[in-house]
Amino acid sequence: MKSEKLGLNTICTHIGEVKDEQFKGAVSPLFMSSSYAYEDVEVKRYPRYFNTPNQEALCRKIARLEKCEAGLIFGSGMAAVSTAMLAFLHKGDHVVLPQTLYGGTYNFVVEEFHKFGIEYSFAEGFSEADFSEKIQKNTKVLFVETPSNPLMRITDLEMISKLAKRHGLITMIDNTFASPVNQTPADFGIDIMIHSATKYMGGHSDILAGAVAGSEEHIKKIWNLAKNLGGSLSDYTVWLLERSMKTMVLRVRAQNENAKKMAKWLDGHPLVEKVYYPGLKTHPDHGLAKKQMSGYTGMLSFEINESLNVDEFLKGLKMIKPSMSLAGVESTILSPAKTSHALLSAEERKRQNISDGLLRFSVGIEETEDIIADLEGTFEKVSKKNLV
Ligand code: PLP
Repeated sequence: MKSEKLGLNTICTHIGEVKDEQFKGAVSPLFMSSSYAYEDVEVKRYPRYFNTPNQEALCRKIARLEKCEAGLIFGSGMAAVSTAMLAFLHKGDHVVLPQTLYGGTYNFVVEEFHKFGIEYSFAEGFSEADFSEKIQKNTKVLFVETPSNPLMRITDLEMISKLAKRHGLITMIDNTFASPVNQTPADFGIDIMIHSATKYMGGHSDILAGAVAGSEEHIKKIWNLAKNLGGSLSDYTVWLLERSMKTMVLRVRAQNENAKKMAKWLDGHPLVEKVYYPGLKTHPDHGLAKKQMSGYTGMLSFEINESLNVDEFLKGLKMIKPSMSLAGVESTILSPAKTSHALLSAEERKRQNISDGLLRFSVGIEETEDIIADLEGTFEKVSKKNLV
């Protein structure tokens, strides 16, 4: 399957399979061995070297989906984020990141970088000026995350790539929220794509994994560090992830469609103050999202009227699960003020527009009529309670 022109579903279904030469089965056999021969072999294989048959095969699928030469899979999204950054940042180097960053990445930067002598600055907004004013003589990496969590702001990937090239910087993106189905940053010249594969790639809320894609040269550099840090993924989970990814495009496109419908429905609801979804024409970055994404994702956020009690609202839901992670086939919801942004002061949350009534909604694949019925029933119940 060497054709350059394969469709996304074909890539997900067929690229990166381990051929079952012995029994000719339809799916990849699973090689669980943690001990391989070292004599008369081309490659010395070991799970922590990221090179077992199943690991190598899945890396090909990830690379192909991200339109890159090579990929690596990790034991978690944070193993992927931390290994990729540390592979390119050494003592005395500096990195620019957005202020609105996944909490785990933010914690990794502020809690660990000083131990390595690595400096960092946070860009306060998403514009070229916001990023370029933070670039220093020792800056080596420009890291972005788009769409952002939870307000779904979009960073211009072409702008980031051009800015980085002018300054000779490596660009990295956390592409988790978009998934390669909705956004392939390599098209805009971004160097390294990073994923929490726990999210859309896994898609069933039962796998913890990470992934990185880039050029052979960049991935080799990340691999050199990765085998020393040891954050590889067990072959059983690699096999499960390969199976999950066969349906990724179908799932993500269904989630895109559902989220678009839900964003419109919520936008017209009298008890919803604001909806944050880049697919809505009223979103400040709608035009940019349209330019660089092929779908607006299954993620959105909305603010409920302040007369409603958020805890009661979340408890009132029957089908939509209040829970921490995202991107599973089931709809889930959370309060950023009580989870991802709980450690920020109330003033800082206000500055970032994270109100107590804001809810981040990961829209699943259920019929939208059922999602709407759950939300509408809860709005009715909770608003009546508040009137009594
Ligand atoms: N990046 C983003 C955008 C995330 O949402 C997460 C997890 O929520 C991560 C990275 C970290 O991934 P993991 O939990 O798989 O380590």
